[in-house]
Amino acid sequence: MFIAGQWVEAEDGSVREVFNPATGEVLATVAEGGLADVRRAIAEARRAFDESDWPQTPVVERARLLHALADKLEERAEEFAVLETENCGKPLRESRFDVNDAVNCFRYYAGLINKPLGQTYEVSDPMMTMVVREPIGVCGQIVPWNYPLLIAAWKLAPCLAAGNTTVFKPAEVTPLSAIKLFELIEEVGFPSGVANLVLGAGPVVGHELAASGLVDKVAFTGGTATGRSIMQAAAGNLKKISLELGGKSPNIVFADADFEAAVEFAMFAIFANQGQVCSAGSRLLVEDSIHDRFVEALVERSRKIRVGNGLHEGTEMGPLISPAHLQKVLQYIEIGKAEGATLALGGKRLTDGEYARGNFVEPTIFTDCTPDMRIVREEIFGPVLAVLRFRDEEEAVRLANDSDYGLAGGVFTQDGAKALRVIKRLRAGITWVNTYHPTYNEAPWGGYKQSGIGRELGTYGLDAYTEIKQINVNLQVGPLGWYRND
Ligand code: NDP
Repeated sequence: MFIAGQWVEAEDGSVREVFNPATGEVLATVAEGGLADVRRAIAEARRAFDESDWPQTPVVERARLLHALADKLEERAEEFAVLETENCGKPLRESRFDVNDAVNCFRYYAGLINKPLGQTYEVSDPMMTMVVREPIGVCGQIVPWNYPLLIAAWKLAPCLAAGNTTVFKPAEVTPLSAIKLFELIEEVGFPSGVANLVLGAGPVVGHELAASGLVDKVAFTGGTATGRSIMQAAAGNLKKISLELGGKSPNIVFADADFEAAVEFAMFAIFANQGQVCSAGSRLLVEDSIHDRFVEALVERSRKIRVGNGLHEGTEMGPLISPAHLQKVLQYIEIGKAEGATLALGGKRLTDGEYARGNFVEPTIFTDCTPDMRIVREEIFGPVLAVLRFRDEEEAVRLANDSDYGLAGGVFTQDGAKALRVIKRLRAGITWVNTYHPTYNEAPWGGYKQSGIGRELGTYGLDAYTEIKQINVNLQVGPLGWYRND
């Protein structure tokens, strides 16, 4: 762990093994932080914010540090990509993409921080009224295992750019790229105590970050149930919260869509990163008139997806993150069968040969799904697609919005007006027309309904790490004359 500029073990000496989900091998043994460790890290982050000049550091200096971090990450991009694949299983081509995106995220916020941020107002008195943005203070940042490095960049870049200090906690199963990233943070010379890394279990270390009265903001990406518990824990000192939670996102295909494009994007929407994506297109809605032909093509192409160790050239889908998560996904597949959905593809764990020691599951497609089924309503977070059919635009929108979640959604049609009509009615924060999944550092990321609170990325992501202060300056200084002077 990296606390106050020092690499440290857990105070009580606890350690944890970190596994490769493709082979079951132990990749590393890391510190397992506890309450004492996270409290010390919070105290150091507090000190760095309250007593060092970090919050007042000129923005050019903060930008320089972030650029230097981006450059170092870029120089070692392949090493980070391999490590990410070893630790979280995703195919190497996806890890390379993530590292590149992380580099660009640090650069984006390094560039954004010295752009105009404030506002001035004309008011009724002879007054100069202006608004400035200031750092919030100490931030607790908690991230999941599906994009360990990329989500670390999404959290750290705006937080540090804005002049906050942080205690950062990766998921206990995927800490390796975060540890390496903090080695780079040390190398480029962020001041001591500004960026701290604590490892350990969510209900202990993460909970303390959410509950501590010394933390001013908690930012979390992960499951909706955990998000709810973080919100409750954060209520103690009414800290600011940003929550990026789960989804059950609809991908709508109209009969007039480019057929081949829609088939391939439907696959990409659910099978990228083994479906362990908050914005995965896990509900596919297909117009009646092309439904059977579409499903047939989708099943045929998905059958050919090459599942394997993400490090192997040509692998298109890797293993699930852990044996426990594999069991959860397999359970959902059983639930789908029991609910009466038709298993059109996959459904089984892969155990032959090199699959035996990893957490591999087949790309899985259920058809004949109905809106009340659990596999349609609940986030499975695996390569399991639920296909529903619709008659017309009205029904498509109704089915798409019939969810507690509202993170993302896509629509495929060659009718531009129809695409925009449908997108405008989708209750979701991230939407796509004739594509699925691309995300950009420049644009806000986050959800409606139970998919979260607030936005990351873009200018919104920087706003989320700032307080807003109004400053009123009297331009005609003199007595107010409000009180009698006799
Ligand atoms: P969690 O939401 O539990 O984990 C995300 C992060 O939160 C991890 O760092 C975890 O720590 C931490 N955490 C866990 N419990 C607490 C707590 N009480 N207080 C503070 N922090 C906590 O996700 P899981 O890994 O358990 O996955 C559960 C489900 O969540 C998945 O099956 C999936 O449906 C969903 N999920 C959604 C993600 C998304 O991007 N929207 C990402 C990951 C999961 P640690 O793991 O170290 O214990």
